[in-house]
Amino acid sequence: MTAFTFATQRLPATAEVLRQEVRDFLAEEQAAGRFQPVCDAWLGSFDPDFSQRLGARGYIGMTWPKTYGGHGRSALERYVVLEELLAAGAPVAAHWIADRQMGPLILRHGSEAQKQRYLPEMARGSAYWAIGMSEPGAGSDLSAVRSKLEPDGDGWRLTGQKIWSSGAHDCHYMMALVRSGPPGDSRHEGLTNVIVDLRAPGVTIRPIRLLDGGHHFNEVFFDDVFIPADQVVGEVGDGWRQVTEELAYERSGPERFLTTFPLLRAVVERARTLADPYLHREVALLVSELAALRELSISIAGMLERGANPVVEAALVKDAGTQFERKVTEIAERMACQMPSTASADGFSVWLAQSIYHGPGFTLRGGTNEILRGIVARGLGLR
Ligand SMILES: Cc1cc2nc3c(=O)[nH]c(=O)nc-3n(C[C@H](O)[C@H](O)[C@H](O)COP(=O)(O)OP(=O)(O)OC[C@H]3O[C@@H](n4cnc5c(N)ncnc54)[C@H](O)[C@@H]3O)c2cc1C
Repeated sequence: MTAFTFATQRLPATAEVLRQEVRDFLAEEQAAGRFQPVCDAWLGSFDPDFSQRLGARGYIGMTWPKTYGGHGRSALERYVVLEELLAAGAPVAAHWIADRQMGPLILRHGSEAQKQRYLPEMARGSAYWAIGMSEPGAGSDLSAVRSKLEPDGDGWRLTGQKIWSSGAHDCHYMMALVRSGPPGDSRHEGLTNVIVDLRAPGVTIRPIRLLDGGHHFNEVFFDDVFIPADQVVGEVGDGWRQVTEELAYERSGPERFLTTFPLLRAVVERARTLADPYLHREVALLVSELAALRELSISIAGMLERGANPVVEAALVKDAGTQFERKVTEIAERMACQMPSTASADGFSVWLAQSIYHGPGFTLRGGTNEILRGIVARGLGLR
């Protein structure tokens, strides 16, 4: 049985110094009225100016080598910065995907030219990337991807469609997992990651509106889009291995349990004013669950720091973390004295409304909880 291991991981003293720096920066930004805390800010709050200010402070691409615009810091230092940004509900969506998974993917598998071209602008917070995995017939079963890559002279032609592409309408590039050959017996062969310039001829981006009318999701159509040969990442046909690694980055961070943190903070504050021992017990349980999740998550950051690929551990924490986020919303709903509204002057009401609107996606995006449990079961040797 391949059990998973969560070794206790301490944060270094340098990380705590950094934490104070980030807190001071965020306090200044808020005092200057440059952002309002938001639940689910890491996917929904897109603010290029804020991302560029973070980039200028060295808070993006923190672990990447300095030669590519990074800052050579540890995964644990990066963890602390993420934790503070998420706890503050800061508008980090513009650069989040590039920093979290596309930069590390290019660093690991990209060509030297790709590293030099893409990483510095990502680290400056000025280049935004979309994830091009899901398709109408390929969600949990990513190997069913059908967008087709065919050779054409010096490069390739891409035809097909992606769906649920978060923020693609505001992004410069998409990392698209596409079919370059037959799936083979494993169904994992013949897949390739390509960099698609979202302004290239033949790319059409159409919104899928949210229930509240917001524009977050897109359908992205590729109609005979030319993909230069140098925009293939790594080897043709190596897409499955790359995407598996990428998903470990996508699933392993503290955003998988801190999405509703601004609401949790308001829940604790409101609970203090209520003489309700049953509620106090529920809120205390929530906070202790958060403390346990955080320990597990910091342990994963330590694994990343040591160069490991904690696929099973990340699946476990994402499953538990997103269930925790739902619980925060449920308890807040029971405490609400009025209908939650994003237009309210009361923070509790706004954050609750945001958590209710966005909540259904927490346990779906980045791999559904059923799929994550399957990964954990396989890690335990149960399937
Ligand atoms: C907020 C949000 C943002 C997203 N952003 C992006 C993005 O930027 N880029 C992108 O590519 N995708 C994105 N997605 C899509 C997301 O990755 C998919 O929704 C997810 O992988 C599930 O795929 P699906 O929606 O096709 O559901 P399906 O795969 O059709 O699953 C439907 C249901 O069946 C269950 N199920 C499926 N297969 C199994 C199985 N083998 N065992 C047990 N149960 C199973 C699932 O758990 C789920 O409950 C986003 C989704 C959300 C909600």
